[in-house]
Amino acid sequence: MIRFEQVGKVYPDGTTAVDGLSFEVAKGELVTLVGPSGCGKTTTMMMVNRLIEPTAGRILVDGEDVSTVDPVRLRRRMGYVIQQVGLFPHRTVLDNTATVPALIGWKRARARARAAELLELVGLDPAVHGPRYPAQLSGGQRQRVGVARALAADPPVLLMDEPFGAVDPVVREHLQNEFLALQATVRKTVLLVTHDIEEAVRMGDRIAVYGQGRIEQFDTPGTVLGAP
Ligand code: ADP
Ligand code: ADP
Repeated sequence: MIRFEQVGKVYPDGTTAVDGLSFEVAKGELVTLVGPSGCGKTTTMMMVNRLIEPTAGRILVDGEDVSTVDPVRLRRRMGYVIQQVGLFPHRTVLDNTATVPALIGWKRARARARAAELLELVGLDPAVHGPRYPAQLSGGQRQRVGVARALAADPPVLLMDEPFGAVDPVVREHLQNEFLALQATVRKTVLLVTHDIEEAVRMGDRIAVYGQGRIEQFDTPGTVLGAP
């Protein structure tokens, strides 16, 4: 589904962020990218939806070289969840969640109905939380809205960058479990970035362990944990 072929990225200032990345993510698989800050995880993710262009190699999504796909069309096929969820502060939770369906041309009523359905899917009550503004939610609730919004257009791919990073450990574990239950039903192809090895192990079907700018190990959680 997602295939990296010898992908490299050197930023204009000369920083090599990643070098020679080759790996594959199967359809419906959740792969976690784990490693210390600055090792190239975010760069890896942002190249998939062309927020960043690689300087070497190529990335295929569904067999298609992403550098040949219109970025807007590409991003419709990929939900993106980040730590600072980036909800619009002056729009209600329901309207935030309906943003993507509205952007892709759904009628307002249909977009809002879909948004309500998505809020329920991530464990929020559309009647209670829908009319609120982001500032009126807890951190964990905002993250859930972020996930709901990313799922809005039903993209086959989800890119998640430290999606549970901004909440306390108890809420974090709760959100991780909720997301796993959700993933068991929606079966998205997921790349999830974390610096927390426990999260990587708990969430990943497979784990890409990063060193500086490269993947040092790519395997199942059991094998990664069992490694010397
Ligand atoms: P994270 O740990 O979540 O990647 P960072 O603080 O490393 O967060 O990066 C935040 C943003 O700043 C990203 O958009 C990243 O591309 C950009 N950034 C990170 N390092 C640099 C740098 N050395 N020069 C310019 N931009 C950078
Ligand atoms: P991670 O997500 O693992 O924290 P990043 O992909 O954000 O790592 O960054 C990888 C390396 O690239 C770091 O050295 C970072 O400082 C650098 N970097 C990230 N964004 C930029 C940028 N826009 N310009 C220059 N260097 C950057």
